[in-house]
Amino acid sequence: MTDHEAELRRRLERLSLEEKVGLLTGAGFWTLRPAEKIGLAPLVLSDGPSGVRGTTWDERDHSLLFPCPTALAATWDPDAAFEAGRLNGAQARDKGVHVQLAPTVNLHRTPLGGRHFENYSEDPLLTSRIAAGFVRGVQSAGVAATVKHFVGNDSETARMSYDALIDDRTLRELYLRPFEETVRHAGAWAVMAAYNQVNGVTMTEHRELITGLLKGEWGFDGVVVSDWTALRSTVPAAEAGMDLEMPGLPTSPWRDNLVRAVREGEVAEELIDDKVLRLLRLAARVGALDGLPGPPPVTTPPDARRRLRDLASLGMVLLRNDGTLPLRADTRVALIGPNAVRFAAQGGGSAHVEPAHVVTPAEGLRRALGGDAQITVHAGVHPHGRLAPPPLALMTDPETGEPGARADYLDADGGLLLSEHRRAATLRFLGEGAPMATRQIVLRTRFTPDRDGVHSFAATGIGDFEFRVGTDVTSLTLTPEGEDAVESLMKPPEHRVTAELPAGTPVPVELRHTFAYPPLVLTFGIGYREPHPSEDAELAAAVEAARFAGAAIVVVGTNDEVESEGYDRTTLALPGRQDELVAAVAAVNPRTVVVVNAGAPVLMPWRNEVAAILWSWLPGQEGGDAIAGVLTGLAEPGGRLPTTFPVTETGVLSPVPGPDGTLEYAEGTAIGYRYYAPEDVAYPFGHGLGYTTWEYESVTASGPGGTAEVTVRNTGDRAGREVVQCYASAPSLPLRLAGFAVADAAPGETVTVTVPLDERLTGPYRLHAGRSIADLRLATEIR
Ligand code: BGC
Repeated sequence: MTDHEAELRRRLERLSLEEKVGLLTGAGFWTLRPAEKIGLAPLVLSDGPSGVRGTTWDERDHSLLFPCPTALAATWDPDAAFEAGRLNGAQARDKGVHVQLAPTVNLHRTPLGGRHFENYSEDPLLTSRIAAGFVRGVQSAGVAATVKHFVGNDSETARMSYDALIDDRTLRELYLRPFEETVRHAGAWAVMAAYNQVNGVTMTEHRELITGLLKGEWGFDGVVVSDWTALRSTVPAAEAGMDLEMPGLPTSPWRDNLVRAVREGEVAEELIDDKVLRLLRLAARVGALDGLPGPPPVTTPPDARRRLRDLASLGMVLLRNDGTLPLRADTRVALIGPNAVRFAAQGGGSAHVEPAHVVTPAEGLRRALGGDAQITVHAGVHPHGRLAPPPLALMTDPETGEPGARADYLDADGGLLLSEHRRAATLRFLGEGAPMATRQIVLRTRFTPDRDGVHSFAATGIGDFEFRVGTDVTSLTLTPEGEDAVESLMKPPEHRVTAELPAGTPVPVELRHTFAYPPLVLTFGIGYREPHPSEDAELAAAVEAARFAGAAIVVVGTNDEVESEGYDRTTLALPGRQDELVAAVAAVNPRTVVVVNAGAPVLMPWRNEVAAILWSWLPGQEGGDAIAGVLTGLAEPGGRLPTTFPVTETGVLSPVPGPDGTLEYAEGTAIGYRYYAPEDVAYPFGHGLGYTTWEYESVTASGPGGTAEVTVRNTGDRAGREVVQCYASAPSLPLRLAGFAVADAAPGETVTVTVPLDERLTGPYRLHAGRSIADLRLATEIR
């Protein structure tokens, strides 16, 4: 035993059984209990994979919003993943967070998966290398990364209970691999056990996978934390190897029950000691254990915004280009599309963070094209299911006169507990934020219309409300669509009212929400839409603007209602009339560039009729600048697809469990590029264009598990970035990713990159090098 381990043991020995067990369940939603007598500070945990939210979900508590994880994987660059991880770690340190609940390393089993945007890739090797980079980055800042969700949480429908039936080979080769690599090679300090079952056993009770595989075979010495409320039993979960129950709720199956189980001999005290030791080890690693050396100080660097923008452009994928891109600086641009106006910087669910700002494509383009640029903006169509919050400029806090609203928190007797100014029309609570005695929250504002006409307002939320617009008051009970609490958080039902109002005269708008329990998971708010013409008229106006523009840039996509935790998508089609909009614009302007603002594949029936397609993902808070940079050629579109984009949705794997609750992974290892027939692929795995051209000159390889040396030459007249991809094939082995590396080269320059090959692929096989799985340029034999 090392001195360090001996010291942890000495501290453990000073705790009573009750004290030990008390550490194994959260003190609240995001924090653990301290143990002053052994110098243990209260550990703080925070979501998530798009940035570090902290312990509140509040527009006043800002976090850096990163490009969505799939965008990070699209860089194919573990160094970029390290940088993103390091920046996350720095944010966590600034927010006093010790444990970040990221990365999500479940796979893109089906493009319909709700958390597709939050997962890296369909390929286990690419996922593993990006995840390992991210974990190393976070932990280099002295913050624990939490690899989640262990395992089989590759879709959301009935995620709390479904039973993923996955054969052993598929589990090992595909779904377990990113966990194994992040634990064994990147040394992850925490792993989160999923909600679902695997092969008949719920994951928080899966002794074979947690104790046998993760802790045993892989030698994991960190903490296994439950997904929030996923731990549902006393003895089976303790015996399976769960270490930490989150969050800490009054209904905890551990705490007193676990103390009793130990006293009654059902659970060995050594097992409890092992869990506490793991927690102390974690605490020591993140500097939360007094008297032991903690990590050196780290803080968010001043150029964080530039880094976020660069990460976003590094992941953007140019799917198609007839030469229209990069745009000329003097181009008159018609910027069109719903996502040009309501830009989707992130997906929905627990990954959500509150950025200080989001740069929209219009702002980005104005900056990139210069002050004199002529840019018109038209939404064209309105695919959103819910109304947007009212513009802050039209809302006034009735108490202070500042832009925004007032939130009053009342107890059961109507006594005022707290009254606060908010710069938001939607309030969300996930565990913390409102006083515990709150039984009523009133959100009120004075709304001043900026035009005459019929204005639409909406009350959204779940439960009992009173909604006032002007003098009209409605009492409402809103009931959720689905059962998942996170679904209610992202897609609460909406009740709309209209009011004919003149410009300039303020009216009170007030939403009063009454509830019976403390507000742990709660969302409600006010939506708004200004007086507007019909959608047909808006679409026609957008097409007219496109007709005479030098280029039409159409920003289409999804949003955080469509792509979210808590539910899956039911279609890959773009919501609403977006396809119709693209086709109509393309018909009048041959220089139509489509920017797709989505995290997961969508169908693009117009893809061969437009001049160019830039896939921008959900690119984070600096997304608009990154998009504009790539469109104008200031930046190289650095990304390649980490997942296959299908032509149709016919035949894509379903995320919906059968009536018996089982989700059969009957396709085995054949997901993604191993699954689709070539004619079903719109854009293949690894695909992505740049602004220069490349010649593949030679490939040599040392042997299986070694490296390949690939020489490429930049044959164009711009500096560029090439993702060199290697694939293996053999008579019994259909093509699969074997390694990749990034080459940066000046015009005319020749570069040789060293590609580390997948050590799990044993020879002999044929090694191909190329630009995507469908564009292989060179090959050599590996024996
Ligand atoms: C999600 C986790 C998340 C946790 C805490 C769960 O619903 O599945 O990914 O870390 O909530 O927000």
